[in-house]
Amino acid sequence: MDGYTPGEQPQAGKFIKLNTNENPYPPSPAVAAAITRAAESGLQRYPDPLATAFRLRAGEVLGVDPDWILCGNGSDDILTILTRSLVGEGQWLRFPSPSYLLYQTLADLQGARAEQVSFSADWRLTESFYRGHDALRLVLVPNPNSPSGTVVDTDAILELAQRVDCPVLVDEAYVDFAEASCLHLVRQDARIMVCRTLSKSYGLAGLRFGFLVAQPVMIEALRKVKDSYNCDALSIAGATAAIDDQAWFTDNRRKILTTRAHLADELRRLGYQVADSSANFVWCYRHDLSLEQIYRRLKEQRVLIRYMNYVGWGEGLRISVGTDEQISVCLQLLADAASD
Ligand SMILES: *Cc1c(COP(=O)(O)O)cnc(C)c1O
Repeated sequence: MDGYTPGEQPQAGKFIKLNTNENPYPPSPAVAAAITRAAESGLQRYPDPLATAFRLRAGEVLGVDPDWILCGNGSDDILTILTRSLVGEGQWLRFPSPSYLLYQTLADLQGARAEQVSFSADWRLTESFYRGHDALRLVLVPNPNSPSGTVVDTDAILELAQRVDCPVLVDEAYVDFAEASCLHLVRQDARIMVCRTLSKSYGLAGLRFGFLVAQPVMIEALRKVKDSYNCDALSIAGATAAIDDQAWFTDNRRKILTTRAHLADELRRLGYQVADSSANFVWCYRHDLSLEQIYRRLKEQRVLIRYMNYVGWGEGLRISVGTDEQISVCLQLLADAASD
């Protein structure tokens, strides 16, 4: 099998890093304080297997009962737990394409069959995405989607769950940058689950913390499959402090949304086609220039963006929303590349 290849993570050198949708701003200072406190008390003990401190605080913030939450070592861990629990060898896992490349790897690991259904040209789910069959065990819908940043509306998700009649996971890794969430649908339809991560909107990609919201029967079943101590004591402390600091979160989100609007406008002015983004990145393309060359040229000048080429779909550039300064450097290089 082919493994999953994460976006480049240069560990040294001064890159402006706009390739893996990390937050350009550091997390709340309360995070480091909480981690220090946790490190100074009790690391000789195993952590709470259920990360209850986090579930209590997150439950209050999101208006969800803590028994409806399962925590993971990043939301990638949640995705692994779900596929291990629900999709057996030879069974089917469905997801749209182009979307998150990890889904295919998770299917491969299970010996499961991946059903990639193309989005429509305007990034909607097509009729065949809604059709159920007996061997279909799990449907994954990243919403907002990556690489496009686009959303499908919540009514479509509800209709999808009813028609496929199997568990549907809405991967809301980027939902904090969007207008609407599917969280309320979890109560309405037991087949619908939502996963979130602290990696993007809370600036904690390095900490590794994500969570699932699903009905308690499902959560109880999934607990049997996860590693007992899948979240360590430091990440539980840090994640709890992060979700507790909503003022920091709101301020940070506001800055990113402002910069996103500027980035999209300027890309259009430079002649790019730009998808309407509800995430902390922008997907753009053009046919008159080689996008791969543009990616390489920016990399030589120490600005990393993501070049993607999807079979049967086409290519594009995915640019994460950085600080205003980072985005203005990036835009200048893109303008230079377009005028040569
Ligand atoms: C980033 C991302 C994740 C995973 O995030 P974690 O860092 O593992 O929490 C999940 N789904 C999508 C679509 C993502 O882009």
